[in-house]
Amino acid sequence: MIISTNTKGKENFKYEIIFLLFQIFFIIIFCVSSTYPAGHNRQGRNILVNDSTFIEKHGQLRVEGTNIVDKNGTPLSLRGMSFFWSQWMGRFYNYNCVKWLRDNFKCTVLRAAMGVESGGYLQYPDIEMNKIKTVIDACIDLGIYVIIDWHDDNAQNYLPQSIDFFKKIAALYKDHPNVIYEIYNEPQQVSWTNVVKPYAKAVIESIRPIDPNNIIVVGTPTWSQDVDTASRNPLNYENIAYTLHFYAATHKQALRNKAITALNNGIALFVTEWGTCEATGTGFLDSAEVELWMNFMESNKLSWCNWSIADKVETSAALKPNVSSDGGWPDTSLTISGSLVRGLIRLYNDTINTGIRGNKEIYFNFGLNQNYPNPFNPETTIEYTVSKPGISKIKIYDITGKLVYTIEENNIQKGTYRYQWNGLNSSGAKLASGTYIYELETDGYRQAKKMILLK
Ligand code: CA
Repeated sequence: MIISTNTKGKENFKYEIIFLLFQIFFIIIFCVSSTYPAGHNRQGRNILVNDSTFIEKHGQLRVEGTNIVDKNGTPLSLRGMSFFWSQWMGRFYNYNCVKWLRDNFKCTVLRAAMGVESGGYLQYPDIEMNKIKTVIDACIDLGIYVIIDWHDDNAQNYLPQSIDFFKKIAALYKDHPNVIYEIYNEPQQVSWTNVVKPYAKAVIESIRPIDPNNIIVVGTPTWSQDVDTASRNPLNYENIAYTLHFYAATHKQALRNKAITALNNGIALFVTEWGTCEATGTGFLDSAEVELWMNFMESNKLSWCNWSIADKVETSAALKPNVSSDGGWPDTSLTISGSLVRGLIRLYNDTINTGIRGNKEIYFNFGLNQNYPNPFNPETTIEYTVSKPGISKIKIYDITGKLVYTIEENNIQKGTYRYQWNGLNSSGAKLASGTYIYELETDGYRQAKKMILLK
């Protein structure tokens, strides 16, 4: 049942008066409580807190201790998707796909994975460079961050080519805060001190005279798992982060312990690639372990990209075969992994909702409030604010991304609404304990939050 705080229908005059009183009330509250954080006044009115792109808001990033911080010095977590090897899934390296990943997935970062060997950049430098540049240019235009990943696992064997590539990229993009250099995807079981670190020093010292400040992410041995080893003998440069990769069905607490060691030793980590499944990129999808990793990454403010934007038949691919190259994918064309990960990106990036104003994408905070009580059993109240009349939907998903319940209002007026949800799915069956995601969709805007049903 929907209860509106505004009157509906023909009592427009009364509505205007009540609304005016509300405005006066909020102005008074604002004046009295000007020392409160911005989020404090959210209820009841839709307050525009920001109308710039994500990049305009956060700007030049830097590494401060174990954190990545934005231009204001505030720790920032970037969450998004990695593209697949450019030589094999190059069809997704286009502007429309980047735009879809920003607008529909809510990515604030994308990773362009330059395939180096196996018919990649070493063989076809111009073709592969153009794919990477297309993604970088799109991310710059659309106001999100982009990782330029030298996607190789023997990069020390191609040092001159790597240096040449990153010098070219730095010369082109040094003045754009969007760019993050990832100079070595996954070193294999080679020495940090004698192989990876010297390679990293050579590449970093080629980039730095051109681009003195953008973050450089450095791969670590054993397919970017030995972050603890790197932390004992770190690189002595500014704005360096270290790569941590995991595949949830293979890498568990033991790898999180390595990450804890690295953080305790004071280095910054960036999860430039992770998968929901086994280390092969396929096999079992371990959603319970994904949740543990999510909690770990969130509590340590780690940034991440999920592997991958691909329509290959394997568990980690976010897309089912033969989807369009240009985004616009219906929900049914996402794989289980794709649905789960998109839900997580939307969930955790929810403070930067996007919408169109004029012809410019804006980021702002609107009124989906935390449900209460939370955790709940069996009832909870979902409260949200709609800033324009029209259709509003609340969709409730389970943690695997399966839609379990929809609340739809076709003729909703502007105002704040409360919905009492009884923990039943759309067929009236009781739902299991667990985390659920509820997402408000109104006037082209989306916002999601998490709630917990505890029995
Ligand atoms: Ca720069």
